[in-house]
Amino acid sequence: MPVIHDKKTLHKMLLAYRSKSDAIGLVPTMGALHEGHLSLVKKSLSDNAVTVVSIFVNPTQFNNKSDLKHYPKDLKTDVKLLYQLNNNIIVFAPSITEAYEGNMVTKSFDFEGLDKVMEGAFRTNHFNGVATIVALLFEIVAPQKAYFGEKDFQQLQIIKKLVQLRQIPVQIVSCPIAREAHGLARSSRNERLSPATREKAGFIYKSLLTAKNKFGTENASLIAKEIEAMYAEHPLFKLEYFEIAEADSLIPISIKSDSIAYRAFIAVYADKVRLIDNIALN
Ligand code: AMP
Repeated sequence: MPVIHDKKTLHKMLLAYRSKSDAIGLVPTMGALHEGHLSLVKKSLSDNAVTVVSIFVNPTQFNNKSDLKHYPKDLKTDVKLLYQLNNNIIVFAPSITEAYEGNMVTKSFDFEGLDKVMEGAFRTNHFNGVATIVALLFEIVAPQKAYFGEKDFQQLQIIKKLVQLRQIPVQIVSCPIAREAHGLARSSRNERLSPATREKAGFIYKSLLTAKNKFGTENASLIAKEIEAMYAEHPLFKLEYFEIAEADSLIPISIKSDSIAYRAFIAVYADKVRLIDNIALN
């Protein structure tokens, strides 16, 4: 399984597939791979002749320098994990200079408000950084399909909007959230939790399940208050936000409608590690 660091070589390799009209799938990641990433890769492998897994910790999407500095990096282990999966994978791991051609500029997009709520409200310019790198990857790889996890549901909606705005000929495939046995959403950041905190962190998923159970009978603002109370009693986990919003538009819920799909979204600090999760409510 080749590990490619430059665009030129990647282009050449992919040309062989393109000339045979073989389908190319793309799974963009920041590495420190876990079962969540691998579920996306497996889906792509079943859909496509070849899968490009990009591994790139993208500086422009980090609003917090310490978060960027501490982001786990282990290309060797990542490649090993992918190798155990399948041979039809190309790992694309460019340097910052190669990815951005020496000009690391964050582009600005109009996501029609999708980027202003939740993660966007707490992480200034985060989604412009995400869209900048994903647009570049779409250009470099030109995949037929690209795979994104519902773990980052707001990001998924933003990527769909990016594709629509820029009329990029790629199908966005959304993949369900992979969880640890006690419910914690798998994340590269989980590695930074102490074993004791990690063991207790199923609490975050439990709080989402509580919201889901109440959603049929209680109004959203009452549910939000109850979730806040749950966290107030559990100081190991510091609630940053809990929101119930329309799944497609991400507009916060006002009057509940049976014809609209809603999700609950949450961001929590544990051991100074920021964790996010979400759940479908109806
Ligand atoms: P990241 O490396 O965190 O940028 O994630 C790369 C891709 O993997 C994104 O599309 C994420 O949404 C997806 N992903 C990360 N964790 C999970 C998970 N637990 N379940 C499903 N997809 C995930």
